[in-house]
Amino acid sequence: MLTITQIAGFAGAGLAGAAYVPQISHLIRARCSAGLSRLAFAAWLLASVLVTARAIAIGAGVFIVLGGIQIAATALILVCAAWYKDTPCPSHLPRQPAAKTATGTGTSGNEPAVPGVARSAGGRLSRTRRARRGTASVRPCPRDTPEGDDMTTSAGVAVAAHQGLAAAEPGQIAGAQAAIVVISRDPGAREILSRELSKRYGGDYQIVVCGQPAELAPWMRDLRAAGLPVALVIGGVGAQDRDGIEVLAAVRAIDAAALRVATLGWGDWQSMRSVFDAVTLGTLDHWVIRPVQAPDEEFHHGITEFLREWSNQRGGGFEPVQVIGQRWSARSQKLRDLFARHRVPAGFYDATSGQAQQMLDELGLASPELPVVVVRIAAEPTALVNPSNRQIVDAFGVMTPIPPGEVFDVAVVGAGPAGLAAAVGASSEGLSTVVVEQEAIGGQAGTSSMIRNYPGFSQGISGDKLAQESWRQAWAFGTTFVYMRQAQSLSREDGHYRLRLSDGRVLTSRTVIIATGAAYRRLGIPALEDLQGRGVFYGAAASEAPAMRGRNVFVAGGGNSAGQAALHLAKWANQVTLLVRAPSLVASMSDYLIRQIGAAPNIDVRYRVQVAGGTSTRGGNLQSLVLEDTASGARQTVPADALFVLIGAQPRTEWLGQAVARDRWGFIRTGLDLSAGTHWPAARPPLPLETSLPGVFAVGDVRRGSVKRVASAVGEGAATIPLVHRYLPRAAAGRKPSPASTPAGDPSQHTAGTRPAA
Ligand SMILES: Cc1cc2nc3c(=O)[nH]c(=O)nc-3n(C[C@H](O)[C@H](O)[C@H](O)COP(=O)(O)OP(=O)(O)OC[C@H]3O[C@@H](n4cnc5c(N)ncnc54)[C@H](O)[C@@H]3O)c2cc1C
Repeated sequence: MLTITQIAGFAGAGLAGAAYVPQISHLIRARCSAGLSRLAFAAWLLASVLVTARAIAIGAGVFIVLGGIQIAATALILVCAAWYKDTPCPSHLPRQPAAKTATGTGTSGNEPAVPGVARSAGGRLSRTRRARRGTASVRPCPRDTPEGDDMTTSAGVAVAAHQGLAAAEPGQIAGAQAAIVVISRDPGAREILSRELSKRYGGDYQIVVCGQPAELAPWMRDLRAAGLPVALVIGGVGAQDRDGIEVLAAVRAIDAAALRVATLGWGDWQSMRSVFDAVTLGTLDHWVIRPVQAPDEEFHHGITEFLREWSNQRGGGFEPVQVIGQRWSARSQKLRDLFARHRVPAGFYDATSGQAQQMLDELGLASPELPVVVVRIAAEPTALVNPSNRQIVDAFGVMTPIPPGEVFDVAVVGAGPAGLAAAVGASSEGLSTVVVEQEAIGGQAGTSSMIRNYPGFSQGISGDKLAQESWRQAWAFGTTFVYMRQAQSLSREDGHYRLRLSDGRVLTSRTVIIATGAAYRRLGIPALEDLQGRGVFYGAAASEAPAMRGRNVFVAGGGNSAGQAALHLAKWANQVTLLVRAPSLVASMSDYLIRQIGAAPNIDVRYRVQVAGGTSTRGGNLQSLVLEDTASGARQTVPADALFVLIGAQPRTEWLGQAVARDRWGFIRTGLDLSAGTHWPAARPPLPLETSLPGVFAVGDVRRGSVKRVASAVGEGAATIPLVHRYLPRAAAGRKPSPASTPAGDPSQHTAGTRPAA
């Protein structure tokens, strides 16, 4: 028969055990002491010790054992609680969509992961919360306590700010889709950054403020575990953050997609230099000057741009276009690339997934030919089954009809940087302008993830962004665009030039600007040509980079574009190997890229090597590459998940037939490069950039001797417009011949078909 004391003892031990199990499990699993009252457990430990001592004194064997277990368990909880007290944990962060209910239960005043939320209503933080409504979705890192630091310089503001930081609003946090993390040892910097960021972005982003670099990694991991991707890590660089660049550089290993932004104080020129170098080397993505006033629009302009870049890279969200197809089919890859280059948000759905099947069912499509493109612009979606590019653009309804008989002043062929610059210049100066583009606005530049050498963009600009801005500018000035049509021939009839397009239409224009650029050379290895889009990619294929996460990727080429592709891919890939035929990169690649590649931990460069073959998996994807030593001819087979080929360019001039003079590689001769008599028919000398057809100009990469850079292509495009202005009066005069104004051999008297061959 048990005594009352024994029954009470067993009940106490049972209750304690029930309390220990969740506490110990949470501490060990989540490494977090939020939700645990250490004071209560300390009291419990003391009580256990006293009870056990009493049990020993009266020789109550079973209670000595139970008391011992209780002492050990309580001590373990207290040790773990002390150890993990500053570690944030997913369980105490808001989860999506359950964030609204993220409330802490702690009472110890030691609940850093859910500051404010965990405290009792009506307490100090609740008052602060009421006072700072609207700026509250900010969380400090656990050790981000201002005691003793220089926040006293603006004590009132700083303390209020800090309390404000602690006063998280669960409702607002629930709306957050991603996080912005601030890391700085400088309390003043933390204060102003958290205030400005929370005011402007608090509704959409969880703002996390850290004072200790050591806390950054656990915070970022826990945010990710809580379903909040980190968009930006904004790190202090300067007197109080001497290791700021290293702290930010380390972010890549934690989250390759988060953009690393250095923040400096206005006038800290010394730190500026090292930040510039770090951006050049790719250890930082961007920098921004800390806000100097409230609101600081300059600061917010930068932050908004960085957030835009991050969200563009990430994709998801609004999907006016959905592509349902096979992930590794060449056409699916092409479509993803096409939409990405036009900055049309497009969701891709693997046809084998349940979601894709459901979408097809809803569209009433049973086993359609893939891919299917769903355009959701109008109230009713339009489903296009295995459409051509032209069908897609027509479904978008963006083409301006061209009236029959329209004669343009300028017809531009190609909407790369050169063609777009020409269109902006021409239409802004009142010339009626049409642009024909066969593929994607932006040309080659549109495939570049970051162009750092284009003047005016100190932090670089992505090729697609640059292209989009120019395209909108030209459109706004009145340029007519003809999308997804190829110019197939150029001729001269009735004093005008005629461009025959791939849809059978003919455009008529007084002048023509050829800006058709160049295309990447092919490997010419049949086994690999068949794998295009299924592991073998031509060009940098920026849209494919995220899919390379954790893979072994090869880049063939030694030029700037290959270097940039390698750097971009290294953000996601496990390992990138650059395959270079030459013994060095010095002659072919810009120095800043060589330095960035040298500094990248996961990029290898192999010299004197070329791709000689490859194999595929049974599923038809790239499996391995055969690499050949160009000196010895020795071959080696290496496993490969993907190969990006950037081995030089071929001018896109086949469509011109014999119409204009070209060099033996096909690049168009212009200006002084045309030899009189052989190529040039008129008495006057050719204008700069003018081809062997008077009134027809060539600009950008397609031109013999061009520099093959975005800035020079843009410069040439813009420079043609004054030349067009000089030419047009002559052409007009040529159509109404007068002895005074029409020299013998006037250009307008020639037909394209009679031009000498290149
Ligand atoms: C991945 C990559 C990264 C690069 N990075 C940089 C960099 O960082 N800095 C830099 O300065 N340069 C860079 N370059 C080089 C730069 O992009 C080119 O020099 C520049 O794009 C050339 O511009 P373009 O307008 O002359 O020709 P392109 O950009 O080649 O554009 C030509 C356009 O004409 C269209 N076209 C062709 N034929 C026809 C036809 N018959 N009918 C209708 N349309 C036609 C094409 O589809 C294309 O859109 C990079 C290139 C690549 C590929």
